[in-house]
Amino acid sequence: MKRAVYPGSFDPVTFGHLDVIRRASEMFDVLIVSVLNNKVKTPLFSVEERVKILQEATKDIPNVQVDSFTGLLINYAAEHDIHVAVRGLRAITDFEYELQIAQTNRKLSGEKLDTMFLTTSLEYAYLSSSSVKEIASFGGDVSQCVPEFVAKLIYEKYHIQDRI
Ligand code: ADP
Repeated sequence: MKRAVYPGSFDPVTFGHLDVIRRASEMFDVLIVSVLNNKVKTPLFSVEERVKILQEATKDIPNVQVDSFTGLLINYAAEHDIHVAVRGLRAITDFEYELQIAQTNRKLSGEKLDTMFLTTSLEYAYLSSSSVKEIASFGGDVSQCVPEFVAKLIYEKYHIQDRI
């Protein structure tokens, strides 16, 4: 069984993430999308909420599982016998950061964990969870960026009455 993990904050999941999830799910027998419980970032959605959102958004892809983890990705991967991490690349700015993490993970894992990058589909290259949150917080339209039920949940968080 070829298994891979797609780790990230997913706060919340966007069409960009979902595009990567769909494409990666076709390359592996099982793809585990795992929400990182990152103590440094203050998220809009709790880890439990993000897991639920991801489960709903990926329910039509049978080989996708949703999970969460705390701590180092290499430990999580080792515990689950996973040797590939999937990450998405939007632009050169992602690349510098991602390259460093990928190399660190490979080294720290004793060369057991490799990272596979999928370049974003062009229509989602501009998308990020943080810009979606910023637009939504001012009542802007995020229907091009996230599934409808996710947009509703974001507007609820920001108390944008006329969008709920
Ligand atoms: P993190 O905080 O770990 O970067 P994110 O949830 O922001 O978590 O992103 C998770 C992964 O998805 C990263 O590899 C990121 O580059 C990728 N990603 C984010 N937005 C997009 C997008 N629009 N298209 C493709 N990949 C994306």
